[in-house]
Amino acid sequence: MRMVLLGPPGAGKGTQAVILQEKKGFLHLSTGDILRENVKNNTDIGKKAKAFMEKGELVPDDIVIEMMLNTIENSRDKKDFILDGFPRTVYQAKKLDNELSKLKLPIDIAVYFKTSLKTVILRLAGRRLCSKCGANYHIVNMPPKKQGVCDKCGAGLYQRKDDSEETIKKRLEVYDNQTKELIDYYNTQGILKEVSGDMEAGKVYSELSEILNTCGSDDRHKVGK
Ligand code: AMP
Repeated sequence: MRMVLLGPPGAGKGTQAVILQEKKGFLHLSTGDILRENVKNNTDIGKKAKAFMEKGELVPDDIVIEMMLNTIENSRDKKDFILDGFPRTVYQAKKLDNELSKLKLPIDIAVYFKTSLKTVILRLAGRRLCSKCGANYHIVNMPPKKQGVCDKCGAGLYQRKDDSEETIKKRLEVYDNQTKELIDYYNTQGILKEVSGDMEAGKVYSELSEILNTCGSDDRHKVGK
């Protein structure tokens, strides 16, 4: 099954994708993570993307589309994956649909994480990431056992540069102007589902599991098809 996660930054898409990967074996493909890795390693993609990311703007479509289509093509199991942070424009979504239809692996569900502005701002401002393994924490909602240290690998935690107040504002503006219209795009295809991103992670996961169970019993959406 192929799934797209939609919603503003801070809606909890990444958190749920990690849980779905651990519990249900989906491959989690996060555009933001892949881009950050490229920036860290100073690759050609990283060099082109860095300034856009730091300003909270979208990286140009052609760079992101090529990067993500290559990632999907090269993944060991192309069948069951979650796209987190991609597509982010209708143009990206159309390109993705074209490529996946050639591979006979269409997107089965798009899940919209409907989330209030208040939740999003609180989450982004308190978010911390592991500098080594990328694990996600929140200083209040999901603190590590030892302050500033990753539970999983012991490396130090850091705050993303684009989680600063000014850049958060810009990212939310970009979401409203360029990404929100994807909700209609997938709704028109009849594959849109909705969860409340305001709930705590365990509850969101229960709702997602239910959605997956329902879709799994529908012929159009069988896992692994
Ligand atoms: P995220 O980790 O999903 O919040 O993404 C971090 C940043 O990476 C975004 O603010 C954009 O600059 C860039 N980015 C991630 N996904 C995309 C995408 N699909 N298209 C363009 N830029 C993206």
